[in-house]
Amino acid sequence: MKLVIATVLFFLGFAQICRGQTNGTTNPVNSQESAAAFSTNSYAVLGATPQQEALGRSQIQAMQPDALPLRIVFLPHWKYVDTARIFRLHVPAGFTSALFTHLPSRTVFIDADRYVSDESLGYWLAHELGHLATNSVKEDDAERAARKYRKRLEDASKRAALKQLQSAR
Ligand SMILES: [Zn+2]
Repeated sequence: MKLVIATVLFFLGFAQICRGQTNGTTNPVNSQESAAAFSTNSYAVLGATPQQEALGRSQIQAMQPDALPLRIVFLPHWKYVDTARIFRLHVPAGFTSALFTHLPSRTVFIDADRYVSDESLGYWLAHELGHLATNSVKEDDAERAARKYRKRLEDASKRAALKQLQSAR
């Protein structure tokens, strides 16, 4: 039990430090810019490479979820397994999980060694955002919300592909 508390405090403390640093280095911006930054970047991404962070943030932005996580934590596989065990995660059959959400702290954990591809990251992020939007641990609830997020993500990547085609002409 002590280990659980220590781990949660570790993540919360870590997130706090990161947020403090971000605020400390941000230059004053006009209100429009800060409003836009708040809506898309108000959560912390920890342990990610710059590419992983950029990808995750752009996918979440495209999905326009009803609720954002407070933080997204990328972990090496061994640490992910350990964390899942600490939170007593039960993964139902059919849900091969390289991601999970701890609802009380609104934290999404990602197994950085096992999410396979950019597409699968978006697919499973949609599922985790579904848990957050419905505030439910039930897989059915998460999947119901995830469907519309995946559709938005797909539409956004189609638009991006079209744009690329047009600029290549
Ligand atoms: Zn789930």
